[in-house]
Amino acid sequence: MTYGDAEFGFELLACRWAELAWPPDERRDSAVFVSRQLGTQKRRWDTIVVECDPEGFAARAQFGEDALDSDLLHVVRNAPAEWTYYRDALPHPGYPWRYVREAIHRAAARGVVEKRKQGNRIEIRRVAPYPDWVRRIVAIENKPDLDASAARALSAQLEHDVETALADEVWVATAATGASVEPALLEDLPVDVGILTLDFSRGVVADAADVVWHPSTLDVASDSDAFDADEKADRRLEIAERAYGKGWRSFHETMRPDCRGFELRREGRALVPWCATKECGQTAAQCSGSCAEFSPEPPQWRTGGWPIEGGPGKGIKQLLEGRREWVRERETE
Ligand code: SF4
Repeated sequence: MTYGDAEFGFELLACRWAELAWPPDERRDSAVFVSRQLGTQKRRWDTIVVECDPEGFAARAQFGEDALDSDLLHVVRNAPAEWTYYRDALPHPGYPWRYVREAIHRAAARGVVEKRKQGNRIEIRRVAPYPDWVRRIVAIENKPDLDASAARALSAQLEHDVETALADEVWVATAATGASVEPALLEDLPVDVGILTLDFSRGVVADAADVVWHPSTLDVASDSDAFDADEKADRRLEIAERAYGKGWRSFHETMRPDCRGFELRREGRALVPWCATKECGQTAAQCSGSCAEFSPEPPQWRTGGWPIEGGPGKGIKQLLEGRREWVRERETE
């Protein structure tokens, strides 16, 4: 295996596997998409799998490919079918109306709501009903080297996840070692958290996963210490929206595909970054503006001869963006 020892590489492979084969051991009957490094201010999950109602997911596409933030959601979800003065149409947001007006202008600029002026009043009308598209949110913590001490270190975070119950299920994904899972490991992790072993020795293939421990289904519809039920529903939708906009291939936005050492390598059915200069699977932190070995791709790569317009760096970005788009479309078929 050339990739997967670093947590970052493992995470990308885990995301690709989830995109391909989630849920483990079951038939897929939802549209599924995957994102990474998202959550709340207090807790960021490594991998997020969003299971969606296929029709609702297709209907969500009418609101564009970018995420709707909480202010835009307030407008879009409550926009009426007929032209209405916005203060009559929208519930009071709990903050000044001028922020709502600003959100209406942003929403109209993005084409996710219509607005017009009648006298000095702003009226709004929806472009389509905002669908009920999210079925379940699954949080996965990636820990390729999950020994007993790593499990102990993780357990407080995982207990927090179980208590807040923002996700329907919480899992830990670890690299398969071939050895049986130590009982101590199971003791150190909360009993409600599932454990998945992933074997990427053949790269990403659909049957790379084994369920070692099944998770509990968490109660996302009730109050928890951190959120009441309504807040929780709002947070869950915001997380799903951010996941929808981001996907998991957005690493190209922070890494340096414009470096001559940057390559994408195939690992089974995944493409993951590879640094040809250092001959390793680089992390996002290493592959940044501060990398001492960064070397810009030569200008001639950007002109003539290169099969993708703009040089390989730009081509890699286009490829990854194209795949993000392809996954959205595939899940709506
Ligand atoms: S040399 Fe540095 S910037 Fe270039 S691909 Fe490797 S890690 Fe990234």
